[in-house]
This record gives sequence, C-alpha cells and structure tokens, in this order.
Amino acid sequence: MDDSSGLKPKELEFTLAAVSQFSSSSLSSSSSSSSSVIARFSADSGVAELRFHRDSEFIDGFNVDIGTSQLFKLGPVQSLCVSEISGAGKEKSYSRAVTIQFRNEDESRDFHSAFEQWQKDVIQGIHLPNGAIAASKSKFDYKIEPSSAKMYFHYYGQLLHQQNMLQDYVRTGTYYAAVIENRVDFTGRVVVDVGAGSGILSLFAAQAGAKHVYAVEASEMAEYARKLIAGNRALAQRITVIKGKVEEVELAEKADILISEPMGTLLVNERMLESYIIARDRFLVPNAKMFPSIGRIHMAPFSDEYLFVEIANKALFWQQQNYYGVDLTPLYGSAFQGYFSQPVVDAFDPRLLVSPPLCHVIDFNEIKEEDLFEIDIPLKFIASVGTRVHGLACWFDVLFNGSAVQRWLTTAPGAPTTHWYQIRCVLSQPIYVMAGQEITGRLHMIAHNAQSYTMYLSLSAKMWGPGAVQGGILQTASGKLDLKEPYYRMSQPQSYTMAQDQQPQQLLQAQAIPIHTEDLDEAELLQQPSENTGPQLQ
Ligand code: SAH
Repeated sequence: MDDSSGLKPKELEFTLAAVSQFSSSSLSSSSSSSSSVIARFSADSGVAELRFHRDSEFIDGFNVDIGTSQLFKLGPVQSLCVSEISGAGKEKSYSRAVTIQFRNEDESRDFHSAFEQWQKDVIQGIHLPNGAIAASKSKFDYKIEPSSAKMYFHYYGQLLHQQNMLQDYVRTGTYYAAVIENRVDFTGRVVVDVGAGSGILSLFAAQAGAKHVYAVEASEMAEYARKLIAGNRALAQRITVIKGKVEEVELAEKADILISEPMGTLLVNERMLESYIIARDRFLVPNAKMFPSIGRIHMAPFSDEYLFVEIANKALFWQQQNYYGVDLTPLYGSAFQGYFSQPVVDAFDPRLLVSPPLCHVIDFNEIKEEDLFEIDIPLKFIASVGTRVHGLACWFDVLFNGSAVQRWLTTAPGAPTTHWYQIRCVLSQPIYVMAGQEITGRLHMIAHNAQSYTMYLSLSAKMWGPGAVQGGILQTASGKLDLKEPYYRMSQPQSYTMAQDQQPQQLLQAQAIPIHTEDLDEAELLQQPSENTGPQLQ
C-alpha cells in the first residue's frame, strides 16, 4: 500500500472541563462530574470518531462520527457538536448533540482546528496506523447503505441485544458444546471471531486452548467485549479485541480457524454471511476450519387458515368508507399487499407442513461472496395431504464440522425454539392441492443495500379434475416480500390443533405417506406421529 498519499491522523487528546448530552428542554448537563473528561480523536475503528472518556472509562452513548457531524461555538469556552443518527427512512432519523465545555479559550480554539482537520481528512481518506484507509470505501461500504449500517451497528452496540442472543440457550449452548467437544481443533491454534459481539465465542475458543483469538467487532460492543475479556483474566492474555469491520481491519497473522455467528432470520438476513466469507478470504491459511462450515435453508409449503385470515383481516381497516367522513378504501389494496409482504416470524407446529421439506445448501468453505447477492431456489414438493396451501415455511440449520464431534444447530419447527424462530411467507391467494399432487415454484431472493433481501415467491399446482387430462389447469400464487420487514407474531395465541381446516386424520395421513427426500432428518420428522410437543431433531 502506498504510504505517501493521504494524511496520517495523529491520535489527539483534549482534556475538557465537562461534556454533556444536549437536551431540548434544557442545557443542563447529564454527564458532567468533577473528574475531568478526555476527548479523543480516534480512527482505530476504521471510522473517524470523537470519543469521550472519564477516569479512563469510555463514556457510553457520547461518541461522535466526525464525518457526519458539525461543531458549533456557543461561547468562548463552550461548543455544541451535532450528529445525525440515521433511522429506517428519513422520518426516523434524528440529531443528537453533545455540549462540550473547555477549560480555556486556547483549548477551545485548538479543539476546533483539530476537528476541522479531521473532517478534511475524512473526506480525502486518511491512512490508519494499521495500513487501512479510513473513509475510503470498503467492500462493505460499497454494498450497504450508510443509514442501514449505522442502525445495525447501533443495535448490536447495546448490551440488551447481546444478552438476548446469549440467553438463547439452544444457540449459545450449541456453540459452547461444538467448541469444547472439538478442543483438538482449537488447541494451539490462531482463531478469528467474526463479529465477536460480547466476545463470548472468543472466550469459548480461548477456553478450548486457542493460542490466540482475534475478536473483530464493528459496533460499540467492542468496548464491552474488552471489558468482559479483561475481567476473565485466565483467558484475557490470549484474546485481542479489534474494533472495526472484518472487511477493513488488518490482523497481525493468518488464522487457522474462523468462528462466527453470522446467521440472521432465514440464515441470510443481515447479509453478515458475506462478511464471514470475506473474513475467510482475508484471514485464513489454506485448509483452515470454519465454525460453522455449512448452512442449509429448509423450505416446505404449509397450510394455516388461521394465519391467513389474521393477515388478510389486518387490511380490513382500510375497507371503511366513512372514517370520520373519509373514504379509506383507495388504500385498501396497498395495505393488503403491504401485510402480505412481511414474512411472518413465529414458532409453528410442524404438523402444518403440507409436504416434506427441500433444502438449499450453502457451503461456507466454497461459496463466493457474490453467490449470496442472488439466491434462486427452484421448488418442487409432493403434497402429503389435500388442503389449501397458504405459502412457504422456511427455517435453517448450520453444521459445526469438528474433527472430534459434528454438531448441528437447528431452528426447525418442533425442535427447541431459538430466537430465530421460523419464518413463513404467506401468499395472498391460497392454492388447493390433493394428496400426492405436485407443487412447483421458485424462491428468488435478491440482496438489497439495507442488509437484507427482496424475496419473490411463486407456488403452482395443477388443478385436479376434468382439465387435468389435458395437462391440467395451473393455479399459481406469487408474492413479493421484504425479509427486512418481518412480522413478529410470537405474542399471538398459538393454538392450532382444532382451529385449522386440517383434521387430525388428514394429518396422520400426511405422515403415513412415504416420501422420497434428500433430507432424511426432516423426512423422519414428518413421518413421526407427534403430540403436543412435536418431535425433536438430533
Ligand atoms: N459472536 C457474538 C455476537 C453475534 S451477533 C455471539 O455469538 O454472541 C453478530 C455480531 O457481528 C454483532 O455484534 C455485529 O455488530 C457484528 N458484525 C456484523 N457485521 C460485522 C462486520 N462486517 N464486521 C465486524 N463485526 C460485524
């Protein structure tokens, strides 16, 4: 890399009299105290930032992205720094301001000129100490809209969301078991934790005897990970936390193992698998191990009259012709479409499946980043039961292919529920099928720059009856959904058994029909008669 171009920023520090959040109601300080505050200009996350520390503790929620902020003088020793916080869509964006109190006018002037210089550097692209170029675009920046990334990393920067994942005991317990049972893969090895979050997987890898773990985390959570790791002294000296995106940071050495939890809803939501693949290509020695190494998306048509009616009914509000004297019906069609464009996220009874599932395998060792930009899956099922098909149910699993023990982490219906639940794409037009009938279709997913996918689903079945002799009458239902806008339905009552148009006899019939499938686990799952709890996988 050419070191002569661009400016090298100095890590600058200023001692301040106080810093406080500016609130609209008053200028009173919410965070000042008698001990002094240090403002530090820093680029070690790959983004030019102003961070505030007190007593060498990072002050949470005060950091400022220099590239998108403005600094105003309120008085000789007081300034206001305003940053734009992006939300989903313009209407959800807002500004946040930090009031800075200087000790004297000279320091105020120096601070202002440093701020200006850093802003210029951001625009020109500055060279970081590790050789990367801040503010020049990385692979991540080219693909992802900045407002989406900002919101995404803001979300993961909060402990409550990390706690939510840690408390998914199926998830965290499976990772723990997969690592600890495969000590042989970790002992004496260099590991990279891709998107380390709280640092939990790095700590597991260190427990399993890793020589060194590089915990790469782009959000503010990196600071908490440092704290958590430092507090686990026996492991801390073998873990280095690096704040930044895996697309941008540089590591001191190549690694033997990549560990990560990059799975979103339907495996691919959040587009973090692409970062996992980029990390593979950037950091690993040849023939290294990936934990996990394979992901599979499973899909099957389902029948759920109750869910279908619930979704269709949501739009009924817009059928009113006299809502305070206003005719709402012009928007009925758009509202109806809008509700059906949301994938439904909840845990459903596997007996709602109309046929055995198909699976689409993603081999993390082999796949290229670009292969994830468009995922096109042809669908072909044989209905096990005569019913109305309301859409496609999907879930995923991943494999830890350890040298000692192989372990699957599954999010299948009927298996212990995870925080991913399952998703169902509901079609606005159900299709009728008979037992033994073929259902064909396509699930076409196109990645978008808000870290998710647009999903195009179509399902078709040939009508049974007189027309069938001449090739049948094709019923087709299709829909366009946005994986970024799921409908979380967990709080709804989930009593399916008798509320459905499927009768128990039909369900048993479905399970009795022997069906050929490539996925034995799920074939077994469907063929087992299940009571309330449903069968368990593994
Ligand atoms: N490994 C942790 C956290 C998983 S959540 C655990 O298992 O509990 C995924 C984490 O990856 C989030 O904290 C997110 O901020 C981080 N992340 C996502 N994309 C990233 C990228 N491109 N570079 C670095 N970190 C990333």
